[in-house]
Amino acid sequence: MSYQIAIDGPAGAGKSTIAKEIAKKLGFIYVDTGAMYRAMALYLLRKGIPADDPVKISAASREADITIAYKDGIQQVLLDKENVTAFLRTEEVGNMASVSSANPDVRKKLVELQQELASRENVVMDGRDIGTCVLPKADVKIYLTASTACRAKRRYDELTAKGEACDLKVIEADIEKRDHQDMTREHSPLRQAEDAVLLDSSNLTIQEVTEKILALVKIRKDNSWK
Ligand code: C5P
Repeated sequence: MSYQIAIDGPAGAGKSTIAKEIAKKLGFIYVDTGAMYRAMALYLLRKGIPADDPVKISAASREADITIAYKDGIQQVLLDKENVTAFLRTEEVGNMASVSSANPDVRKKLVELQQELASRENVVMDGRDIGTCVLPKADVKIYLTASTACRAKRRYDELTAKGEACDLKVIEADIEKRDHQDMTREHSPLRQAEDAVLLDSSNLTIQEVTEKILALVKIRKDNSWK
């Protein structure tokens, strides 16, 4: 039996940073499900499939071969055997992923891959539907959020530090658009699971959020962790 920690929330709430920290502290593997949706989006972009063509997206989702490997404990995403991890974190891929992830065939394929990983390993998995759909019986569920302004500022700082020119207002508008798409889609919309703990990271450091989650994990372990 494997242990499962689910972290869901909107774009830029700090899920991946926090999930990686928690995984490291607990010796679990970190599963970044957003990277899988991004790999599918990259496949669609490379094939020139338009975001508004659900029939072609469904067909393409069946063709794309997406697998996960771990190198020095870090998740790598393979698309048709090519390691595409370095190409996934662009705005173009993220925006396409937000549209194509609404497609039920895309979701079915990737949810199966995620559930299969979680059945073999102790995982900290982050995404949008982990607590509600992928791992409904997760041992600990967190819904991590932060104000839109705060999430936009973090993204702005991240891009600026990398030397990329960007505009705070454009980033904020992008985040709002993605949140809206993720929260209002028909299949597995982003929402807090009933049994998830809500954490707002707007005024908290990475370390403070990590400590709060580890404290919740400890309570869960002391009480009924199998
Ligand atoms: O978290 P990240 O920004 O990498 O996710 C990219 C997109 O993939 C999200 O905007 C969302 O539409 C989609 N996604 C999803 N379900 C997940 C993870 C990501 O629909 N479990």
